[in-house]
Amino acid sequence: MKAILARQFGGPEVLKLEEVPDPTAGPGQVRVHIHAIGVNPYDTYMRAGGYAISPDLPYTPGADAAGIVDQVGDDVEGWTKGDRVYISGTASGKAHGAYAALVVCESGQLHRLPARTTFAQGAGLFVPYVTAWRALFGRANARAGDTLLVHGASGAVGIAATQFAVAAGLTVIGTAGTDEGLAVVRQQGATHAFNHRSPGYLDQITGVTGGRGPDLILEMLANVNLDHDLTIVAPGGRIVVIGNRGRVEIDARKIMGKDCAVYGLALWGIPADEVRRAHRAITAGLESGALNPVVGREMPLADAAAAHAAVMEPGAHGKIVLIP
Ligand code: NAP
Repeated sequence: MKAILARQFGGPEVLKLEEVPDPTAGPGQVRVHIHAIGVNPYDTYMRAGGYAISPDLPYTPGADAAGIVDQVGDDVEGWTKGDRVYISGTASGKAHGAYAALVVCESGQLHRLPARTTFAQGAGLFVPYVTAWRALFGRANARAGDTLLVHGASGAVGIAATQFAVAAGLTVIGTAGTDEGLAVVRQQGATHAFNHRSPGYLDQITGVTGGRGPDLILEMLANVNLDHDLTIVAPGGRIVVIGNRGRVEIDARKIMGKDCAVYGLALWGIPADEVRRAHRAITAGLESGALNPVVGREMPLADAAAAHAAVMEPGAHGKIVLIP
């Protein structure tokens, strides 16, 4: 089968399409014929080397994918050849192994993909939607009636968070850096969309909240925004740091003055029962239509290196998906 291998850490060019032996499902495992693979920013951090999770070389990147069950190992209950699924990691590692035509998963890494959800949409469910669910309901204690700022709402996690929040009765303010991204944010049900590259957009956010500020902020680029978030958050508010790409100077007095809380979130550290709850919420949302992942761009698996370059460029408007 075809798979992407990185034989060394480095730039996107270390990702090569290679022919490798077909994997086989062992006891307790299921093999999935992959139809679409989600590209996440952390795939690029891991590929560059020095990431918190560092696989042995050579390795195949990726944890997000969707496809059809094509082989069921011994001692597996509940899965049948032909089932439509999305995966949350693979048997070779919860954070890698999915950039391939065939993937072997532990049976607990499979989740049913409703008929109304395409494989390309299914490829962006695990990392973005579990992260967004955890940020809103496991960290920020989101409740109907809250006003939420999704600071970086045009990317995969931001879209997921906006959809969950709109369905839960929050008023959402989303930001993006391009007109295309702003249109995507509005299409998800955000009441207000502002360009985070426009001077004065923070004042506009404060203005639409009547001067109070958002109750909750989900932050995708804390090294740029955390001090601004502390300035605009409502008294007693909660800020969840989801993305960060460098150091930031903050005035800690603002945390006191606002009586607010700043939370962190690490997908790989979420307790297992909370992860299962998140997947149940994803399934329910897909079936009701409240969740509807946005695919921004489809690329052939052979273009994995270009996809890694693209996911780090500005101008997000949905998920980047690889097709084997
Ligand atoms: P993505 O699809 O590439 O989206 C990135 C988002 O950040 C886009 O909406 C982008 O908007 C926005 N952004 C760019 N510059 C910004 C700025 N100055 N202020 C606010 N937002 C800005 O990535 P993703 O998959 O949604 O992930 C978002 C971040 O969360 C990444 O850093 C990722 O590594 C991290 N993450 C962390 C966890 C965790 O466990 N903590 C889990 C998943 C993801 P434009 O492109 O329109 O400018």
